[in-house]
Amino acid sequence: MQVLEQIRDLRIARQAYAPADVGFVPTMGYLHAGHLHLVEQARRDNAHVIVSIFVNPTQFAPHEDLATYPRNMERDLHLLAEAGVDLVFAPPVSAIYPDDYNTYVEVGGVTEMLEGAARPTFFRGVATVVCKLFNIVQPTRAYFGQKDYQQTIVVRQMTRDLNLPVEVVVCPTVRERDGLAMSSRNSYLSVTERRAAPVLYQALIAARRHYQQGARDAELLREVMRNMLATEPLAKPEYVSVADPQTLQELAQVGDQGAVLSLAVRIGPARLIDNMLLEPRPTETEHRLKGDPHDE
Ligand code: AMP
Repeated sequence: MQVLEQIRDLRIARQAYAPADVGFVPTMGYLHAGHLHLVEQARRDNAHVIVSIFVNPTQFAPHEDLATYPRNMERDLHLLAEAGVDLVFAPPVSAIYPDDYNTYVEVGGVTEMLEGAARPTFFRGVATVVCKLFNIVQPTRAYFGQKDYQQTIVVRQMTRDLNLPVEVVVCPTVRERDGLAMSSRNSYLSVTERRAAPVLYQALIAARRHYQQGARDAELLREVMRNMLATEPLAKPEYVSVADPQTLQELAQVGDQGAVLSLAVRIGPARLIDNMLLEPRPTETEHRLKGDPHDE
């Protein structure tokens, strides 16, 4: 496995893979099974896999955790070598943002709500770095986790709008045994806080259960999530949302488009996010009709 820090070296190495397909997994490091699942999928789909490790300063607000974001390059490289990655791109900040850097990618609409409302400069940083990494790596396909659902929508929008020749692939959220979505930021949790953290997943599951039992009123589903979060004194909810899975607009009713449930919750020093898709399904009545032998 090659490990490169400079853009010109990466470009030379990447050229050597052409014309074979290249899968790309952008990360901020401190890798866990969620990242490795993206790598596995990338390996299945492509002849070569490139992973980037870059803690992107432009997506952190001044008061956020850039300085304390967990890092362990040695362990990450070991995991990626074991996972069969061809190349790791780990640039210094100065390679991506030299002193005179002055261009940013602003995606409209889908960046305004949820994480975008809570973290106003976040998606500008994400879109900028993902666009730059796509231009540097020139992957055939790029892999993102559903864990950061809004990010996948923003990246798809940017890729379409800027005609970037990259196929965006979204992979399911990988969870701990108790349902907590894996995240590098889980390392901020104390033992007690870690015990409280699965309440996010429990809130999503509770809302999904109501949906499966026929509930379509979005406010009722939000209330179900809020009530579950309220059972955990350490959980400080920032938002709970039931939104259109494409536009991310809040819904009044869950209709044919289904919905994405999402939430952001502070537990101790960590700000945790999670989400779950409600797939549109035929109503019970339609279901019964379909199976009805007299329904010819
Ligand atoms: P990060 O290093 O947190 O920026 O994440 C890098 C990529 O891994 C992003 O596309 C994330 O959505 C994805 N990812 C993070 N956590 C998970 C998880 N638990 N399951 C699946 N993908 C994840």
